[in-house]
Amino acid sequence: MIVLGGLTKEFPGGVRALDGLDLEIADGEFFALLGPSGCGKTTLLRTIAGLETPTSGNIGIGGVDVTSVPPGRRDVAMVFQDYALFPHMDVTANIAYPLRIKKVTRARREAKAAETASLLSLSDLLARRPGQLSGGQQQRVALARAVACHPKVFLFDEPLSNLDARLRLEARTFLKRLQRELAVTTVFVTHDQGEALALADRIAVMSAGRFMQVGTPSEIFRRPANTFTASFIGSTPMNLLPGVAGDGALRVAGAVLPLPAGVSDGPIVYGLRPEYTDLSLSPRDDAFTGKVAVVENLGTAHLVTLESGDHLIQAVVPEGEEPAPGTAAWAVPRPGRALVYRDD
Ligand code: ADP
Ligand code: MG
Repeated sequence: MIVLGGLTKEFPGGVRALDGLDLEIADGEFFALLGPSGCGKTTLLRTIAGLETPTSGNIGIGGVDVTSVPPGRRDVAMVFQDYALFPHMDVTANIAYPLRIKKVTRARREAKAAETASLLSLSDLLARRPGQLSGGQQQRVALARAVACHPKVFLFDEPLSNLDARLRLEARTFLKRLQRELAVTTVFVTHDQGEALALADRIAVMSAGRFMQVGTPSEIFRRPANTFTASFIGSTPMNLLPGVAGDGALRVAGAVLPLPAGVSDGPIVYGLRPEYTDLSLSPRDDAFTGKVAVVENLGTAHLVTLESGDHLIQAVVPEGEEPAPGTAAWAVPRPGRALVYRDD
């Protein structure tokens, strides 16, 4: 449905915001672009929309090369982070605006706006202006405006980031259901890994204009391909510790650990999720020894930070089993859960 070939965007001054991106997004797919601020997410979305011209490479939508097609004729609808609603127009006029541009008659526009508003639970608000709406309602008007013109593609640039935490979760579930019902190919930009994991069929993890990994949420969570993805994904950051492979074992921060199959001798980075790190209060060789530095309450579990020599190691510990700060403890990797990297 969407095909990128060698897509590159350089801004004046030499910033390479997109660096030779190749990607295929399937018809009806919910695809998330995930990465830190400044990695090129908005630039990629704007380039797909036709609001930026690529320096090189091409873009196909629905089997047509649209690289030099103007934005108005790409059949895509974009929802911006700040919603970009017209303050002087009421909800109906805002939702109907793209249809007005497309020269749809007033009667049909208003019928379509009312129908879309009902789908997004906005029927009681049609006569209000954006200034008279809450953040969540404004967000739904922006979505309604995108939905009303029946585009081939939705482009969402962090549409939930201006909502408070609770509303954001509700809006996320709502958005997922809406996308399922409409089955419109969607590219969703976020810097929030939890949002990407929850919403997307597939995720591209971006850094400095490149894709670090493209895969399903479970592939990316279970098998992050590099330390960048490993440190970016997960509600608590992965433990990443330098070590050495040799003599049939891994030596990491004072622990001697089993050598996973296929790892050759040499320096490595050892990756272990805090969720797969257990705490023992009695000594063992196959564990990281240290002292409990910080205990944070996560609600149903605790995040325990162990100071182990020069390193900090975190473990998620079930409620009621958290040790007190200052306690000597051993962090035990759960069998088969460690990841071994060589990329830095
Ligand atoms: P993100 O959305 O992931 O935060 P952006 O796509 O906005 O990142 O920006 C990617 C890079 O391109 C950044 O280094 C940013 O400063 C640069 N950039 C974005 N837009 C422009 C522009 N119009 N002119 C020059 N540099 C830009
Ligand atoms: Mg952005």
